[in-house]
Amino acid sequence: MLVPNQKVDLPFFKERGVTLYLKREDTIHPHISGNKYRKLKYNFVEAKQRRQDTLLTFGGAFSNHIAATAFAGQEAGLKTIGVIRGEELEEGWQKNPTLKLASEHGMKFYFISRSEYRQKGNPEYQNQLRSRFGNVYLLPEGGTNDLAIKGCEEILTEEDNRFDFICSAVGTGGTIAGLINSAQPHQKVLGFPALKGDFLNADIQKLSDSRNWELIQDYQFGGYAKINTELVDFINNFKKKTGIPLDPVYTGKMVFGIFDLIKKGFFKSSTQILAIHTGGLQGIKGMNEVLKRKNLPLLDL
Ligand SMILES: *Cc1c(COP(=O)(O)O)cnc(C)c1O
Repeated sequence: MLVPNQKVDLPFFKERGVTLYLKREDTIHPHISGNKYRKLKYNFVEAKQRRQDTLLTFGGAFSNHIAATAFAGQEAGLKTIGVIRGEELEEGWQKNPTLKLASEHGMKFYFISRSEYRQKGNPEYQNQLRSRFGNVYLLPEGGTNDLAIKGCEEILTEEDNRFDFICSAVGTGGTIAGLINSAQPHQKVLGFPALKGDFLNADIQKLSDSRNWELIQDYQFGGYAKINTELVDFINNFKKKTGIPLDPVYTGKMVFGIFDLIKKGFFKSSTQILAIHTGGLQGIKGMNEVLKRKNLPLLDL
């Protein structure tokens, strides 16, 4: 799958002597985050080889991974079950745009409490799910496993060797692990975590086989799916000036961070940056529902 790199052509970059390109993985599919597509690809092959016709996976109510699994599963002819955090969603989940979309693409839901959800990685709990739902192919939260990382190793191509820095948003670390494994020795991979937590460094070290990377922890905006008006304004402005939409949970925070690092002189002159636009745009609607309730400015659609 060949995805275009798009130059972000703004006076800001000329003034600072730095070049930024976005790899438009968001263009792979209108509803599937590009990196989720990459993460699912080899897992589908494996499920079919094992003759398992149903995929079961985990996520929160606005999860890009849940949306992606529903769409891609339907395209691949696999049934999908989403184990969703929050039993209160059982009533009225149809009002949640992500779950509604997933359901329209064939996903069945199983809503569980937050404490039960914490058991999602426990083999005994997973066996309980298997006895309930049959011989399902089980994918972890966020879709991250070895086959997912293998898929993400295909994001970078030879043409990308000219870049000095590769930037990516980070959730579970699967995507950046693939990037780290496929980056060239002269390249440095910068990760922008979308959530707080010191565990990420250790997780990524376990998942990847090189040391040419660093996590930039300053642009989480208070935690997962937390945003403020400054970030909303940034995303809306960026879209107005470049035509490129960013999502509020991952890519918006990353691009905000890249701008801020450039302002602070983090990159030396003539640096060439490639940032991965992983997608996530299906999440804008759900975020706008939240912003509306708080009477805050909305993201432009
Ligand atoms: C899930 C997601 C990420 C994070 O990917 P991980 O492999 O979990 O680190 C980044 N960007 C978008 C748009 C995503 O949906």
